[in-house]
Amino acid sequence: MALFPLFVKLDGCRCLAVGAGPIGESKIAGLLEAGAVVRVVAPSATDAVREWAAQGRLTWVQRRFIPSDLDGAFLVVAALPVGDDLTSVYEEAQRRGVLCNAVDDPPHCDFYYPAVVKRGSFQIAISTGGHSPALAQRIRQELEAQFGQEYESWLADLGRVREALFATAMDPDERKRLLHELASRHAFERYRAGFRPPATDFGPRDRESIPGPTFEAKNPKPGKVFLVGAGPGDPELLTLKALRVLGTADVVLHDDLVPAEMLELVPPGAVVKNVGKRHGAQHISQEQINALLVEYAEAGLTVARLKGGDVSIFGRANEEIDALREAAVEFEIVPGVTAVSGAAAAALVSLTDRRASSAVVLVTAQTCKGNARPDWRAIASTGATMAIYMPGEHYRRVGSELLSAGVDQGTACLVVSRASQLGEVTVETTVGALGSLERLPAPAILIVGEVVRKKNTEDRIQKTEDEIPDSVANAGS
Ligand code: SAH
Repeated sequence: MALFPLFVKLDGCRCLAVGAGPIGESKIAGLLEAGAVVRVVAPSATDAVREWAAQGRLTWVQRRFIPSDLDGAFLVVAALPVGDDLTSVYEEAQRRGVLCNAVDDPPHCDFYYPAVVKRGSFQIAISTGGHSPALAQRIRQELEAQFGQEYESWLADLGRVREALFATAMDPDERKRLLHELASRHAFERYRAGFRPPATDFGPRDRESIPGPTFEAKNPKPGKVFLVGAGPGDPELLTLKALRVLGTADVVLHDDLVPAEMLELVPPGAVVKNVGKRHGAQHISQEQINALLVEYAEAGLTVARLKGGDVSIFGRANEEIDALREAAVEFEIVPGVTAVSGAAAAALVSLTDRRASSAVVLVTAQTCKGNARPDWRAIASTGATMAIYMPGEHYRRVGSELLSAGVDQGTACLVVSRASQLGEVTVETTVGALGSLERLPAPAILIVGEVVRKKNTEDRIQKTEDEIPDSVANAGS
């Protein structure tokens, strides 16, 4: 039978309890807590019930039940052994339209007591419709572990803030957004960490603006910076750890490579700032980014510095690490899937092949940003697969430099643009043909090496077997 869930106000409501043994006592306690006016009918009672009667908190009539006990009652709880008395309580209650709960006797119940998790005004009631009280109990225990006692005071605070917000002339949509933000898991984590929401001062929040902490810190934890690798773009390629860190960050400073859909994973209350060089904040220098990281952390905030791909590859991470070390700011690195791994996956190739290449060199073609010019000859001599980051428009230059370094013009190349993202493109070519390659949308990566040759697998193996030393060719990897 379908049950209708209700939370009922019993304050000042007349309720009858028949039976005052230990089980009856617990039901009576619940009624008292809800402010009901309780009358207990029972020949004997537990010490607690006697005590409540002596204190005037309830009326105890020391005898067995008679039908007129139900007069004027809103509901009755009968905690009696199954038998005549119980049946007559139920039948009399039915006759008078009084709701009845016969403890542990479902056929004689109009309503049930759900399993309850109670944290002040926050209550979760669980019912299995009588099919499995054991399941209800297990779920209750799990929820109790999940929703700690702190929910009571947090909810009380939320209630106060909500009232204060409704007393302002705030735009209703903004108020709604703020109320959701205040109730977020993220806000709760902050509360647990000692931050308390103020009752006033709710200006609109700009996701791009630099925050003074919106919450007053009572016992603020020291801030921390997470250098987080976002992977090549597909949010599914984020690590679970990166996802968790993003979910608890107060501030997210990201670069241009991080796609907008990934930023949707950031909780609404967090400050999100593009500190990328291209489309983000204008002319924000690396030094300014370093300073921002330190500043936010010193304000007690959790900062996620979200970088495309892996943190430690062409991401200037060491400059940020130096600044954080110097300022004694705690930090952690959350590695990510680097672009070349994403590109190899996009093209369905492997970067190493024990028959063709057992080394990968990650190198950048971008030399104007303080990167040293690669020693192509040295790299080429190892026979390693080359992952060339930031090829930009330099395909022709890279191609001719590779040829001069002795790379065979027929060597396979792969350009992957926007690996793992919408608009992903992979183009197969050769070193000799690189010069005539049209520029592909950024970001793109160039991979050079026979391992990326998709067709003519036999060729690939044949071609490289002569070139690689025996020790490498025979290695078991
Ligand atoms: N830390 C990043 C690299 C930053 S340098 C990482 O580990 O991947 C930026 C370069 O990375 C781009 O110019 C491009 O060459 C490469 N790149 C990043 N994301 C890419 C993607 N989704 N597809 C192809 N290349 C990408």
